[in-house]
Amino acid sequence: MAEKVIIIGSGPAGLTAAIYLARASLNPLCIEGFISGGVAGGQLMITTEIENFPGFPEAISGPELMERMKNQAMKFGTRFVSEDVIECDLSKDPFLLRTASSTFQTETVIVATGATAKRLNLPSHEKFWNRGISACAVCDGGLPIFRNQVLAVVGGGDTAMEESLYLTHFASKVILIHRRDEFRASKAMQKKVLNNPKIKILYNTIIEDAIGDKSLSGLKIKNLKSGETKEIEVKGLFYAIGHKPNTDFLKGQIEIDDEGYIITKGRTMTSVEGVFACGDVQDKIYRQAVTAAGSGCMAGVDCERYLSGKNS
Ligand code: NDP
Repeated sequence: MAEKVIIIGSGPAGLTAAIYLARASLNPLCIEGFISGGVAGGQLMITTEIENFPGFPEAISGPELMERMKNQAMKFGTRFVSEDVIECDLSKDPFLLRTASSTFQTETVIVATGATAKRLNLPSHEKFWNRGISACAVCDGGLPIFRNQVLAVVGGGDTAMEESLYLTHFASKVILIHRRDEFRASKAMQKKVLNNPKIKILYNTIIEDAIGDKSLSGLKIKNLKSGETKEIEVKGLFYAIGHKPNTDFLKGQIEIDDEGYIITKGRTMTSVEGVFACGDVQDKIYRQAVTAAGSGCMAGVDCERYLSGKNS
């Protein structure tokens, strides 16, 4: 028997879609992911405190927020499977989705598999992850441990510019570290960074390792032109070296752009009728929990309307 709707992914986008579809009595099945996107529940599962999700003035931890969303989706009848979708055939009617142990048939699909922030392979990455190292300045930059401290951002794209500028509101100084001598960011963003007296730029520089006791206190860096290595004192390091959307299982099935993001048409519709996408897997600009949840709501509503149009 084909499912009416399967949601792939269980971050804020997938779970919000699940809440809407379950309340619409569509009995959704959520294949919540296991390891391919990092962790079920998405990037918030590795975020400590969330201070900017509306409704939580005292802040909430990422895992707790995701647990609440999952409970809300379950309360209305969403069923969960803890596996990754590894392959799909969207040319079939109903669509076919395969996991390691089963094949599912479904009339509609909502893809909410997110994007994984790229990380530097520093020897001490694990030790300082969430103890000074983060991949999202907008999510974590305002936390008390980073206030009035010297913070570093690595990268040379628009995200690195945006995150550096954002951090100047909290930091005493921001050090932007880039491996080349020119940025790939838009000229407008570069100009803002270059004109900001709180931002110091280290060009042609790579980070060799992070240092510190219990939390990050510095970086070992190397100038690629001179070969000189030295240590600098920073209390935070923010990766801004790009994201990888989790769309490998969709290759050849659906329109994706050069970077792997799903192309949505107008709202949450994709190039395949009956397949919808929401959250970071189709958003390279905002990437916030609240925008992901908002687009999950849109995908749920679009899917419900599609199904009622099809069946009437
Ligand atoms: P990008 O891919 O544009 O930039 C990634 C940056 O990280 C590059 O400068 C790259 O260096 C550097 N980098 C990659 N890997 C490493 C590594 N291993 N070590 C050191 N540095 C590394 O990603 P963004 O997230 O910045 O942007 C993605 C897309 O989103 C872009 O299209 C961007 O325009 C868009 N965006 C738009 C915004 C806006 O309009 N406000 C805001 C944020 C993003 P190198 O240059 O040497 O390759």
